[in-house]
Amino acid sequence: RVAYVNGRYVPHGQANVHIEDRGYQFADGVYEVVPVIDGVLIDEELHLDRLGYSLGELRIAWPVARPVLRLILREMLARNHLGRGIIYFQVTRGVAPRDHKFPARTKSSLVVTTKRLAPPAPALLENGVAVASQPDIRWQRCDIKSLSLLPNILAKQAAHESGAFEAWLVDANGVVTEGSSTNAWIVTRSGEIVTHPTGRGILGGVTRRSLVQLAEASGLALVERGFTLVEAQAAAEAFLTSSSAFVLPVTRIDGQPVGDGRPGPVTRRLREIYLANVAAQIGA
Ligand code: PLP
Repeated sequence: RVAYVNGRYVPHGQANVHIEDRGYQFADGVYEVVPVIDGVLIDEELHLDRLGYSLGELRIAWPVARPVLRLILREMLARNHLGRGIIYFQVTRGVAPRDHKFPARTKSSLVVTTKRLAPPAPALLENGVAVASQPDIRWQRCDIKSLSLLPNILAKQAAHESGAFEAWLVDANGVVTEGSSTNAWIVTRSGEIVTHPTGRGILGGVTRRSLVQLAEASGLALVERGFTLVEAQAAAEAFLTSSSAFVLPVTRIDGQPVGDGRPGPVTRRLREIYLANVAAQIGA
């Protein structure tokens, strides 16, 4: 396995960054996770657009020009013979003596790794997954894909310890914002697909964005609005989306079955629509 670190391809086990990298000391950086299917980067341009957005909001320079980053990503797929999995890349403000304010001069750091990932186990798709609610204690710039993930980690761990697959984060108004590393969706009893609007309160998922467009193009009723935990538990269906899970049915929320406790028809349809979009990108 090979990693990319600041201009060099190095054995994964020997890849390291400087102890005064601001990513290490301050989580002063951003990242992306792009799914890879049949060696093709899915929705690559949308991920690079979002990277540019996150970097811009934090005034971190691109570590290399965008076309160069695209080449590095391809080189990493080739060197690691990655067919199916994810490619992870992170950019930090770079190495400088520890001081909160931005260093006067620094070069941003770029690290890229790949990970093989099997398709989700059939049981996950057939039975759906459980989610557990957790208070959303994050900051007010969740639209930036920041390396600073402590609230997400704590929520996911608490969900895991309660036997759930994911945490659904609930704000002070009882509204489900999103998952710890996924976007949250419900299908109401009248058949309307609902997900939280983008803005500073959530990370605008690339999968979320693609699915909104695909659902609308398929003529499905979709509205972007907040929904409460109570509404989710009374919904007909629920599901989550992310680059690594795509569309995954949610069949239990805090131990309560959603609908009849089985993945629903709208969720299945959306997963199929999404997978067809992936298949089109890989030319299958
Ligand atoms: N929400 C959060 C907080 C995330 O960290 C992620 C992805 O890691 C998502 C949503 C899903 O985004 P995407 O579909 O771009 O993977």
